[in-house]
Parts: sequence; structure tokens; C-alpha cells
Amino acid sequence: MKNLPEYLRKVTYALSALYAGSHVPDTLMEEPFCSVMDVLVATMLSQATTDRNSLRAFQKLKARYPSWDMILSAPLTEIAECIREAGLHNEKAERIRHTLEKIWSDTGRLDLDHLRDLRPEDAYQYLLSLLGVGPKTAACVMLFGLGHPAFPVDTHVFRVLSRLTGYSLGKSREAVQRAVESEIDPDICRDLHVFLIKHGRKICVPKSPRCDDCSLTGLCEEHNRHQRHNL
Ligand code: SF4
Repeated sequence: MKNLPEYLRKVTYALSALYAGSHVPDTLMEEPFCSVMDVLVATMLSQATTDRNSLRAFQKLKARYPSWDMILSAPLTEIAECIREAGLHNEKAERIRHTLEKIWSDTGRLDLDHLRDLRPEDAYQYLLSLLGVGPKTAACVMLFGLGHPAFPVDTHVFRVLSRLTGYSLGKSREAVQRAVESEIDPDICRDLHVFLIKHGRKICVPKSPRCDDCSLTGLCEEHNRHQRHNL
């Protein structure tokens, strides 16, 4: 891809026409997410489930434990029951508790506001040091919690962007994240991330993408490859 920044801008522009009016928050620092810790825990809950289920689990967790330090002394089974709707509730409860224990042991408090004072790369590396926090979750916290121009790559983002670019950005989500973050205009990180997820759920679905209904055909390497193959 010769001019990736320009290409990503074109894709963002085309998708914004499709999803104009979609709610794209400046950060997730709005109800019910009020802190960087909230964004981290909500993102951990969102792994391998729907937005609806993870949000409900998060709301139940916050209702049961209004302050994060209450979780440190709560029975794991009780925490797991509280987040059952998010799926993998036993594993997620264990990871969340382990993460809170590490943050407490590292900083003596249960918030992540100190990450605002670090260089973005240091904040990102600290997040990666937490159990159950991989590149996507760390990038979500960077983008939605701290307002840094990170580019989380989930399964939808990876699939759609890979098809669009003819699989030229990398073979793993992490590679695509690195490739995009190194070149994307920081102003469009958030919009492109959110729009690609919407497009992946609605049009560029895993099996049989709905190319006939897609307005990105002119920008899509995979679609064009199929067209050439069928000539
Ligand atoms: S043209 Fe087809 S493969 Fe390309 S982004 Fe659109 S739906 Fe996906």
C-alpha cells in the first residue's frame, strides 16, 4: 500500500457517509464508564461476547461493587456470578481480580490515572503487563480511556481491513495494529475503528461478504481481485 495514510482517510470518509449519525463517543469516559479503570474492566468483560451482554455485566458489577477495592475482598464465585452474562465468567472474574491486585500492589491505589502522566508507549507497556490485557484491550484503554491515538484491532477490524488492503498490512491483529498506528492520521483513529466494526457486523461479514451492498468496492483489493479472477 503506497500511501496508507491517504488510503485510510478515504476509507474513513466513505464509511462516515454510511454510518453518519452513529454515536462515536470522544472517549468512553461517559456513563456508565467514568474512569480509566472502568474502561479497562469494561473492555476485559467485552472479550468474546456482545456489546449488550458485556455492558449489562459491567453495570451489574458496578451496582454490586460500587468501588473497585470491594472486589479485592469479594469471593471469586460471587464476582463470577455477577458477570455471568458476559460469558467465560469464571475466567474473567479471575483475570479482573488478578489485574486489580496487581494495580494495587504497583500503585497502592485502584485507579489508572497515573498513566496520563506517562509517555504513551510506557502507558501501553504497563497495560500489557496486566494479566488478560493484550494489544487490543490495551489499545482500547489508550484510545477510549486516555484519549491517545491508538488503533484497537478486533476480529471485525482485522477482517474488513485485511480484505480492503488485500491482506497487505500483516497476518496478525497485532501486526495490523502496528502498521496502522505507525501511519494513520491520529484524528481518524477513533472513527475508523468504530466504523470498521459497524461495517464488519453489517456488510463485510465473515462468510460471504455482501459486496453488492458495499460502497467500498472501489477501495477494496479483495473485491477487485475477485472481479479480475471472474473475467
Ligand atoms: S467490497 Fe466486499 S470484501 Fe470489500 S469491504 Fe466491501 S463487503 Fe468487504
